[in-house]
Amino acid sequence: MSNPKGLEWLITTSSFEDVFIPEEFNEEHLQIKDLATQFLQKEVVPNFDKIECKEDNIMANILKKAGDVGLLGSAVPEEFEGLGKDFVTTSIINESLGAGYSFSVAYAAHTGIGTLPILFFGTENQKQKYVPKLASGQLMGAYGLTEPTSGSDALSAKTTAVLSADKKHYILNGQKCWITNGGFADIYTVFAKIDGTKFTAFIIERGMPGFTQGLEEHKMGIKGSSTVQLYFQDCLVPVENVLGDIGRGHIIAFNILNIGRLKLCIATLGAAKGAAKESAQYANTRQQFKLPLATFGAIKFKISEMVIKIWMIESLSYRIAHNVDIKEKQFIQDGKTFNEASLGAAEEFAVECSIAKVAGSEMLNYVVDEGVQIHGGNGFSDEYLISRAYRDSRINRIFEGTNEINRLLIFDMIIKRALAGKIDLLTAAKKIQNDLLGIPDFSIKNQIDLFENLKNTLENYKKAILLVAGAATQKLNEKIATEQELIMNISDMIIETYICESGLLRLLKLNSKKTVDIQIENRIVETYFYDVSFKIAKYGQDAINIFASGDEQKMMLLALKRFTKCDPINPKESRRIIAKDFLQKQGSN
Ligand SMILES: Cc1cc2nc3c(=O)[nH]c(=O)nc-3n(C[C@H](O)[C@H](O)[C@H](O)COP(=O)(O)OP(=O)(O)OC[C@H]3O[C@@H](n4cnc5c(N)ncnc54)[C@H](O)[C@@H]3O)c2cc1C
Repeated sequence: MSNPKGLEWLITTSSFEDVFIPEEFNEEHLQIKDLATQFLQKEVVPNFDKIECKEDNIMANILKKAGDVGLLGSAVPEEFEGLGKDFVTTSIINESLGAGYSFSVAYAAHTGIGTLPILFFGTENQKQKYVPKLASGQLMGAYGLTEPTSGSDALSAKTTAVLSADKKHYILNGQKCWITNGGFADIYTVFAKIDGTKFTAFIIERGMPGFTQGLEEHKMGIKGSSTVQLYFQDCLVPVENVLGDIGRGHIIAFNILNIGRLKLCIATLGAAKGAAKESAQYANTRQQFKLPLATFGAIKFKISEMVIKIWMIESLSYRIAHNVDIKEKQFIQDGKTFNEASLGAAEEFAVECSIAKVAGSEMLNYVVDEGVQIHGGNGFSDEYLISRAYRDSRINRIFEGTNEINRLLIFDMIIKRALAGKIDLLTAAKKIQNDLLGIPDFSIKNQIDLFENLKNTLENYKKAILLVAGAATQKLNEKIATEQELIMNISDMIIETYICESGLLRLLKLNSKKTVDIQIENRIVETYFYDVSFKIAKYGQDAINIFASGDEQKMMLLALKRFTKCDPINPKESRRIIAKDFLQKQGSN
């Protein structure tokens, strides 16, 4: 791919040649996957209960061991004693450790929000002082943005910073809450407003005078992950610990989130694969009515849905991760610094990162919820891992920007890019009008060519988005911001379409290799497309019915019907084939 651009997929036809798929992992990728998986099995899994009880500072100790084998520094350049690996490689580690429950959260917080702000925004001195030690695990990192009265509205933070009379320190006063790794971290990136207005980041070290922490929170899930409040009472922070530019803390906060959202999605993959495996093994083993649960159609449905959703999200995750890598390389070739290139690449795909965050966290919630259901009463018992998987998954819809905020952002970022001339939505929307003048084809075709049908269906889903989003923004202008229900509908259409496209492109690429049997993948993609046609139709109808009326409403609903048409399949047959394959591969526990 010569020049990947965020959102381009929405207005053009994407080529399978341009996407990276997990089947293309190279030798190094597989080695690192093996390393991370072995680490999980050896150091984390046997300690699940101890981690849950926060025994003997165990989380920090395991993180330190992860540092010893290089797992904390994969994204850190070699000059700061990291491995300097690309985003795909780092993602592979995140996925592999994703089945580590609380450990996975602590790991992600340390290597992400705990390390990256200093790596990307620190001065040379700050980077030399902290980053090698964060990458090796000698220091543990955390990130303090949220406050009791400012969560989603992070910029309304009340923590203040005032320059001391001798101009050597900033004096911080305020409170942060929900700080992951807060109980044992050595280094914190904390946001405060200088003179009550200039939102700025600071590097806080444990032990600085006036800095204390609260007790561990008692949480619904990820109980082994340390979460505390931080208190700043006339806390003296040396001026050299200002991170980035004064008054530009939001640049740090928002840029770090883009990367975090994609990583969160990738971690949900690891968690979901673990939960699906547990569920399949249980279904194969447990008998009721003298038959294994796995023989019942209702259970096969759930297993196949898990497989379908996981495969589709996997396709999307590595597609984005690779795009970020290509973009970063390109920026470096264009003369940008490492920091500019890394942040610029993540920013380019910020919409896709938000899509991934929502899609991954909701996929995982489905998998663990139905996983508990497959386990019946045992699923409600702490003795079974699925119970922990269920409790620990819920947080993913809340942090790294709630899923509501991310849905709002998806739409907002698209409109802003269109207004800035970065994406030509207008021409694309006008083209839809022309298409609508053609004669609609409501006939049911034989499935002569599955791929061509799916490609057409996908292009139609995109048209449905442009139809609804274009008309809604034209009609409501800036008032659309107050119609959040409508924005949610449009964002859901966008999310589902991007998932569809990512899965289809992976399937087409696999098909082009002609070396693998893709029967199951065919079924996965066609079943997802089939389901999504109803979903997109519903989101679209709801949206149209919010802002249109009379003839316009009728016309738009008709057009939507045309664009959400999907060739019928026998979903039961497809799901049974998918479930059978997965259940056979998992064996019994
Ligand atoms: C276990 C855990 C670990 C965390 N770790 C960290 C950490 O390490 N560092 C850190 O800084 N923070 C951390 N957080 C905080 C987390 O990022 C926030 O909880 C999250 O951003 C939501 O903020 P809030 O809890 O204040 O909810 P609120 O912002 O009060 O939101 C409540 C509900 O209202 C919705 N809502 C809010 N605003 C809008 C709007 N404009 N339109 C529509 N709906 C809206 C939200 O989507 C949500 O459903 C953590 C939280 C938890 C629970």
